[in-house]
Amino acid sequence: MQLPSYDDVIAAAARLEGHAHRTPVLRSGTADARWGASFFFKCENFQRMGAFKFRGAFNALSRFDAAQRRAGAIAFSSGNHAQAMALSARLLGMPVVIVMPKDAPAAKLAATRGYGAEVVLYDRFTEDREALTKRLATERGMTLVPPYDHPDVIAGQGTAAKELIEETGPLDRLYICLGGGGLTSGSALAARALSPQCKVYGVEPEAGNDGQQSLRAGRIVHIETPKTIADGAQTQYLGEYTFGIIRRDVDDILTVSDAQLVESMRFFAERMKMVVEPTGCLAFAGACAALQENPPASGEKVGVIISGGNVDLTRYAELLAQP
Ligand SMILES: *Cc1c(COP(=O)(O)O)cnc(C)c1O
Repeated sequence: MQLPSYDDVIAAAARLEGHAHRTPVLRSGTADARWGASFFFKCENFQRMGAFKFRGAFNALSRFDAAQRRAGAIAFSSGNHAQAMALSARLLGMPVVIVMPKDAPAAKLAATRGYGAEVVLYDRFTEDREALTKRLATERGMTLVPPYDHPDVIAGQGTAAKELIEETGPLDRLYICLGGGGLTSGSALAARALSPQCKVYGVEPEAGNDGQQSLRAGRIVHIETPKTIADGAQTQYLGEYTFGIIRRDVDDILTVSDAQLVESMRFFAERMKMVVEPTGCLAFAGACAALQENPPASGEKVGVIISGGNVDLTRYAELLAQP
């Protein structure tokens, strides 16, 4: 198995040029004063379709050959990967099928269809989505693009950290939201190349700490689907590629509670006027906890990747209303 390298991130950045937004890197005087470091927030909540996943999906689809383009792509996801695949396929003019649970939120089904994807519904309780997806892929000759464990997806996700560090210069620490590890492994490739001294941390929900367990055990640990408000990080295990990079290039994996995620959501809303989804708050929540425990040396530069902003507003209001 050949792991992707920073050269693949550079190639992905060239493919994304003019298609993905170069998202802003924002500062917060309040965060700097409160935690005693210089924070640099890479705001992928402002990426096309509202999350970094556009980068990986677009990069993967851009690499299809002519026959693959004609037949199109297929993915199973009820989250941001679905919308990323749908939008990327539309931009590249190819058909795409997204396999989603039939009880997925209506807004997500509508958004995915709105980007022009064909949505195939399945019953979460009686059907195996992977088997269904593989059968459809074979029948229609479509290429399956997984949400994280694929070299082109990882390389695409790495372009966000590449842009961040190119803008800020070398960082002392970088915190990344961790689910299946596509964003974390891609970011680690960029950080190792552009800022070799930077400590790189993945942050996952406390209830779903399979990544942390895997890093400690030195092998991929599988868990039950975790109960957490971070719905983009309810993955049960890291991938072969993502774990290969994470165990080599990531310094540690931290965890945060749902309450800490809500605190960060409130901070982003109140202080930075940004809507960030619960999963998108993992990195900052992890950074705050780590800095509190271990106060930084003065002038430390801390990068935080805010991964996405797609949250149902009723749900968002409910979460923020909690005392
Ligand atoms: C998918 C997703 C993640 C987790 O990304 P992985 O590449 O699976 O680790 C984090 N945040 C948001 C908003 C996501 O959509």
